[in-house]
Amino acid sequence: MNYPRARFSVLLLPALLAAADADWILHNGKVVTVDARFSVAEAVAIKNGRITAVGTSAQVLKDERGPNTRLTDLQGKTVLPGLIDAHVHALGAGLSEYRAKLPPLDSIASIQRYIRERAKTTAKGEWIVVPRTLPPRLKEMRMPTRQDLDVSTTHPVAFDGSYVWAANSLALKISGITRDTPNPPGGEVVKGPDGEPNGILRNASHLLKGIHQAQPFTEAGKLSALEKMLSLYAAAGLTTVGDRIVPPADYPLFQTLRRLNKLHVRTVATWRINTDRPLDAITREIQASTWTTNQGDEWLKFGSFKVTLDGGQSVGTAYQRMPYGPFGRQLYGQTDPHSRGTLFVDVDKLTAIFAAARDKGWQLTAHAQGGSAIDTLLDAFERLDKAKPIAPTRSHVMHGSFMSEEVIRRMARMGILADIQPGWLHFDVPALERVFGLSNMRYFASFGSLVRAGIISAGGSDHMIGHDKNNAVNPFNPFFNMWMAITRRTTEGKVIYPEERVDRRTALKMYTIWAAYLQFSEKEKGSIEPGKFADLVITGRDFLSCPEDEIRNIEPLTTIIGGRVEYQR
Ligand SMILES: [Zn+2]
Repeated sequence: MNYPRARFSVLLLPALLAAADADWILHNGKVVTVDARFSVAEAVAIKNGRITAVGTSAQVLKDERGPNTRLTDLQGKTVLPGLIDAHVHALGAGLSEYRAKLPPLDSIASIQRYIRERAKTTAKGEWIVVPRTLPPRLKEMRMPTRQDLDVSTTHPVAFDGSYVWAANSLALKISGITRDTPNPPGGEVVKGPDGEPNGILRNASHLLKGIHQAQPFTEAGKLSALEKMLSLYAAAGLTTVGDRIVPPADYPLFQTLRRLNKLHVRTVATWRINTDRPLDAITREIQASTWTTNQGDEWLKFGSFKVTLDGGQSVGTAYQRMPYGPFGRQLYGQTDPHSRGTLFVDVDKLTAIFAAARDKGWQLTAHAQGGSAIDTLLDAFERLDKAKPIAPTRSHVMHGSFMSEEVIRRMARMGILADIQPGWLHFDVPALERVFGLSNMRYFASFGSLVRAGIISAGGSDHMIGHDKNNAVNPFNPFFNMWMAITRRTTEGKVIYPEERVDRRTALKMYTIWAAYLQFSEKEKGSIEPGKFADLVITGRDFLSCPEDEIRNIEPLTTIIGGRVEYQR
């Protein structure tokens, strides 16, 4: 194999020449480097947690092997750069299955079974909360109502559909929610044909009283749930995750694990600000905070500053360019067929919040799923860009499900990045197609267009519930997510807009070097090159050449972070 010999940086060269004594050499494999030329090598040498050489087996063994070097014959196995999931919610997901195993919740009947089971072991009067479940992923493709949840009449029951919740009759009663309860600002207590609340609360779950006092977790419990979740990420082949909401109260949990050497994967934390208060209170909090982007170390640092701009496409609250229409009533419990969803922050306020955060050195992002929310976010970015070019901040659109040609042009012009969730397409398109019509979804998850426009796109799962990498909401198996970006195949087996597929190399970049770039880490991570951290994942099947439908089933055999084995199958 003709692979150019790559060595450590000039500065450290004398030290290496003095003792070419790698800690570990992996050889006789297929090392997919994801370097600028997408080279494939055979061997990689590691010393002090970093990669010192990449090349042919013969070369690396000759140059790097010393008396104390550990050797691993890969026997043809594939080595990829450690995979990066740019979008998870580790603590919530860790807690969701910490006390008891979660059954798959994919139909109203399975939700009712879950409630009956929980009722057996939950004291009467205590809350039962159905973990976050998204209506487009239920067989019935509809929001449950209070009648569905009345399978327990002795427990208040709440169904967590993210921005839209449903409550049973007892929960409504305890919370004092009646036919006369006014809609809270931006929210709705949905009523049935009889004028009574049907249990669905749109952006109004805060009306449920006492729900959060149910069985709180101790600090020790939270710590151990978080550690468990992070170790499951490592087992999935991930070496870095971007946690997209780390409240000030939870950050010490990550710091504790870091201190104890139990973080298991490198973590980049996002600070989301609560925008539901006056602007001056928000800017004061930003100015008073001591946090900013890149503060921390190679295991734990801050990434972006986040605003939640609209609701969710899975619950009919993402702020769209077009109305949700009649199917929105069934799927999301909407009452207004003209509803286009909800924008939580207008462009003036958003721009002012972002300006304050940028002055503190933050990378900016906003949760924006619906088309009009994305348009609004780009309006704010454009105002900031006029004052001072925004590209160096590596600010990005988070989710950006409903793109358009115009959106992609604007992003490319300003140097805006994307944080994308390929897996959603698989699960959500069958329902969304019934809502909007496929012809209106030409730029839904339009990864191919993003890449062709030169927009750096970081792959992420938005994992929020469950410990199983393939059955979680949302599945955090990076091979499944890459497979989706490559195939665009829905749960109904249909390939939608094949021109928006990407090739395998591009999908791999989304989960390695581009995600590293979004996190300001591309000089340290995201490819297998001398000088970078030895973050690697070894697999049996070869990502680049296995049959396309086997990509999603690729299993990591070993996950290595900073030269240390974090997971061994
Ligand atoms: Zn998220």
